[in-house]
Amino acid sequence: MEENQIQARLRHVAGIILIAVLLLLAVGIGVAAFLVNSMVEVTNSQMRAETEEYKSRLNKQISSDFQILTTMSSFLEFSDVEQADNFARILDESSLRNDFVTMAYFPVDNTGIVAILGDPVRTSVQVTDMQPEVQDVVYRTWNGETVLSYLFESELTREKIFVYGIPVEKNGQVVGSLIASDQLEIFSDILSGDTVLGGNGHIHMINTEGRFLIRSQNAIVQEDIETIFEGPYFSDEEAERVQAALAAQETIYTSFRYKGHSYQALLQPVGINNWYMLCVNSMQESSGIYRIVMVIAVTFAGALLLMVILLTYGYRLTRHSNQELHAMAFQDPLTGGDNLRSFMLRLTETMPQSGDVNVVALNVHQFKFINEIFGRERADRLLCHIHQQLSGHLLPEEFCCRDNADRFFAVLRGTDAGQVAERLNQIVEEICRTALVNHSSDYRVMMYCGMLSAAECAAAPQDINGAMTRALFALERAKNANLSTVWIYDAELHKKEEIDNYVQSHMHQALQDREFCMYLQPKIDLRTGRLGGAEALVRWLPGNGRMLYPDQFIPLFEANGFSVSLDLYMVDCACRQLRAWMDQGIEPVPLSVNQSKLLFFEADYIPKLQQIIQQYNIPAHWITLEILEGLALENAEELNARIEQLRKIGFHISMDDFGSGYSSLNTLSRLHIDELKLDRGFLMEVVNQGNIRSRIIMEQVVQMAKRLGICVVVEGVETQENEELIRTLGCDFGQGYYYSKPIDTDAFTARFWGADQGKQAEK
Ligand code: C2E
Ligand code: MG
Ligand code: MG
Repeated sequence: MEENQIQARLRHVAGIILIAVLLLLAVGIGVAAFLVNSMVEVTNSQMRAETEEYKSRLNKQISSDFQILTTMSSFLEFSDVEQADNFARILDESSLRNDFVTMAYFPVDNTGIVAILGDPVRTSVQVTDMQPEVQDVVYRTWNGETVLSYLFESELTREKIFVYGIPVEKNGQVVGSLIASDQLEIFSDILSGDTVLGGNGHIHMINTEGRFLIRSQNAIVQEDIETIFEGPYFSDEEAERVQAALAAQETIYTSFRYKGHSYQALLQPVGINNWYMLCVNSMQESSGIYRIVMVIAVTFAGALLLMVILLTYGYRLTRHSNQELHAMAFQDPLTGGDNLRSFMLRLTETMPQSGDVNVVALNVHQFKFINEIFGRERADRLLCHIHQQLSGHLLPEEFCCRDNADRFFAVLRGTDAGQVAERLNQIVEEICRTALVNHSSDYRVMMYCGMLSAAECAAAPQDINGAMTRALFALERAKNANLSTVWIYDAELHKKEEIDNYVQSHMHQALQDREFCMYLQPKIDLRTGRLGGAEALVRWLPGNGRMLYPDQFIPLFEANGFSVSLDLYMVDCACRQLRAWMDQGIEPVPLSVNQSKLLFFEADYIPKLQQIIQQYNIPAHWITLEILEGLALENAEELNARIEQLRKIGFHISMDDFGSGYSSLNTLSRLHIDELKLDRGFLMEVVNQGNIRSRIIMEQVVQMAKRLGICVVVEGVETQENEELIRTLGCDFGQGYYYSKPIDTDAFTARFWGADQGKQAEK
């Protein structure tokens, strides 16, 4: 896998993870919102409950205080309030028994009596001596009102108090005002605020204008302000909303900002004197949310970080293992360079696109020897050196690899094969010159190369395997040819080798499958112009529509000994054909069968021949055995003995290709043969070059043969002039394309005996 492929996959995984994280984040935000909402609701209801509690305590105290005053008032209704001393004592006692700070009685338009907690009772006190707030209460009760004053600071006690006042009536007439001042204990709680919202809140008392009646000591806003609307704590809209709610005596939840934080508050009417309780949650409104969001954010950031770390780790791990895999798949472990697979991949990319790619295969002569003598380690070092040098000499668009052992491949650029080969030669020379196998020995490393030229590569640019095979084929040739270091691939040569290969590996099966066929070429009697015989010539029909000719396989068979089997097979074919003709009532003509040297000297050659002719019941004289004159060069005596044996049986012996090699009249005179076949080359020389000397020699040969009683056949008769010439020279038979090419037996039979198969056909 390539690096960008890993990156793409990682991006894919990262994308999935990101989506998962975003989903989790959305869930987290949802949960946070839900929690925050619940928290706000809980706080709100807590504030409301708390405020209600304070409100009811306040109301309870006020109504109980009024109750006390009312009781006292009814008592006064029936007592002699004018007796000041008496009243002063009652007032003092009463004041002591309840929690009022001050109690006073002011008869209408008269001086009053004032009892202050802890002080002696004062009598004959003028109303006008009292604080204005107290005076206001007195006057209003004289008018028959029951009054609860606003809060104010007592000049006597220096405490925040308020005053109750109820009228005292006698006989339906208001006779005085009974007043009491109280410092509601609840206010101290409100003031301290320690217990409000479990210590996290405080309560102010305000009036409908927002003015503070009692301001908690724990107020969040530290600045000295008179009303809640002072300062920038409420936004304009919120201030308007709050003012409207206050005016309508409604309960309202609000929030204000102070020093960058938002705080929740509840404004609830007390139901007395337009008083309002302002309950403030001193915990930052955002703090809960903040904390939750922070927890979520930290959790997700942690998860994200963990994922990034895991991704990075995974990426590195994958890249590392990929690099290792890549190295294993595409690197030669010994040299660290490309291996064959990698080379092939690059070649697959390059070759079809460029017409100047030459594929080169290189090898070290005697590498096995280097390995054995100098040891594996030095041999390995030599291979590394070769790779290093080779790659060092390459141009930017060229590349190389080590395949295995000491075999290297390279791609060299250039359209002139000669020049590329020259450059390759120089590179190889440089590699060998600098290669030191052993310091103490002067062993000289030698290399050889096979090269497939750019032209050959361009001929089949997609065939990468073929290109490699052909380069290796050239390498093999270079190994065998010691002359040159670089061998350039030759298609013809390769084709021949391929056929050779095919021939060698398929010959046995082909013989078994009767792929070898007998073709016949007529020998024409020059005196009568009639068919005088035929030569059996082998053709190989491998079954793929192709035909292999004798020169493609006979030399190989002669070298590997298979010609022994083939020649006997051909004798068998000839006899079979003769038998077929005879059985058809056709008077046959003698058939000549070529016999290789190997067969001729086989120990059981003659018995085998006899066995064949006996098998088909063919008289031996219908078979002419063609031998090559080269046989006579080695052992004429033995050859003659063989010939004698064969002739005794009845076989005719013909000497083939006379004049093509070391022909000599001497040979002719020594061998007891029946027929002499003059080589096609002989005739060609006489005809084409008008060579008088050749003609004289030919004449002599023919005459000498005649004198020896040897029949003369001339091969390669291609024209009428050829025929006339050989007839003039006194030859007996002519064989050649002029009469017929070698044809299969059916065609031969049809041609010379026609459809009725009885008439011997003319040429
Ligand atoms: P050969 O025995 O001298 O056969 C004559 C060759 O000359 C044949 O080639 C034939 O086709 C060719 N020929 C005949 N007339 C003409 C002509 O007018 N012009 C030209 N240019 N060529 C002509 P072929 O069949 O390819 O055989 C080649 C050789 O292979 C034979 O030479 C023979 O030595 C050998 N051969 C063929 N069949 C056998 C066989 O069954 N056994 C053995 N051992 N060798 C065989
Ligand atoms: Mg022949
Ligand atoms: Mg011949």
